[in-house]
Amino acid sequence: MKISVMAKTNISHIAIIGCGASAVLILESLRDTAFSIKKKLSITIFERDEKMARGMAYRSGSDRLILNTLPETMSVSERQPDDFVKWLRSRGIVGKEGIPRKIYGDYLEEKLSSCIAALQRDGHKVTVYNTSVEAVTINEKHSVIFAGQKMTFDVCILATGGELREPENIALSGAQKILSIFDEEPIANIKKGSKVAILGSGQSAIDACILMESFGIEGYYTLVSRRGILPRVKSERADHCMQLSEMIAEKKARRDLGNDSNLLIVFYVQIMPDDLVMQLHRF
Ligand SMILES: Cc1cc2nc3c(=O)[nH]c(=O)nc-3n(C[C@H](O)[C@H](O)[C@H](O)COP(=O)(O)OP(=O)(O)OC[C@H]3O[C@@H](n4cnc5c(N)ncnc54)[C@H](O)[C@@H]3O)c2cc1C
Repeated sequence: MKISVMAKTNISHIAIIGCGASAVLILESLRDTAFSIKKKLSITIFERDEKMARGMAYRSGSDRLILNTLPETMSVSERQPDDFVKWLRSRGIVGKEGIPRKIYGDYLEEKLSSCIAALQRDGHKVTVYNTSVEAVTINEKHSVIFAGQKMTFDVCILATGGELREPENIALSGAQKILSIFDEEPIANIKKGSKVAILGSGQSAIDACILMESFGIEGYYTLVSRRGILPRVKSERADHCMQLSEMIAEKKARRDLGNDSNLLIVFYVQIMPDDLVMQLHRF
């Protein structure tokens, strides 16, 4: 939000719904602009998850799930594009690749706290509700409904990210289960020799393979994807591709090992199944 807009209008009550990376970027930008305006803002943040700032992408505790972009592109500050790189260096983390997403989550959490503290120091009011917003009505003033309450704001910023939708029309039987890649505990408990279908072949599908690898799960993985395209590798060393090609190499080397489990686990990731099936055997 630009200072010119805030200074010239009556905007002073701002709601931010959802507190993931986008909310941190918004607060960072508010901090940069709000210090120089006379009126005081009241900013209310609503987040349903107990983990603030991490959102869906940066909440995993796994070291193996890494950023898919270089740190140079991940600063939350428009003014300081190298902010994340400097933050990493200040913690002795060097190198451009293989930065775990949980580290980026730490960065976001820290930035959130420092933004809130700075805004409060400048006399602005920041309130955080750890609750789910049920509805928003847009009128002259915007109403936010949550936990049986209604509050009104001049501006309501929706920063709720994407929703994980459970796929429809999957008939399960017996020991078959459907999991999301965010269900790390059940993933860790997948039985040896399981047949695992992974819906989609994008970055989340690679995450699913990496997670299963990191939990030492041996089995038979099938990637089911409508386009059959693996994610574009953005890093210089192409870590995702290397890990995937290692798995495929192992498949070739040990192709006829046991494949007799009747436990099918379907992960849903970001792409729904259609016409192409890629298979990875992992023993
Ligand atoms: C598995 C995965 C890995 C990714 N890896 C990368 C990467 O390496 N690099 C990169 O640049 N991008 C990556 N992304 C993209 C990533 O989603 C974006 O970078 C960014 O995190 C999106 O931020 P957001 O704030 O829009 O959404 P989110 O981070 O999802 O945050 C939305 C927040 O809103 C909250 N919320 C939703 N509805 C409500 C409600 N009704 N009431 C209250 N709170 C609510 C949610 O709990 C959540 O905390 C990845 C995405 C995924 C899913």
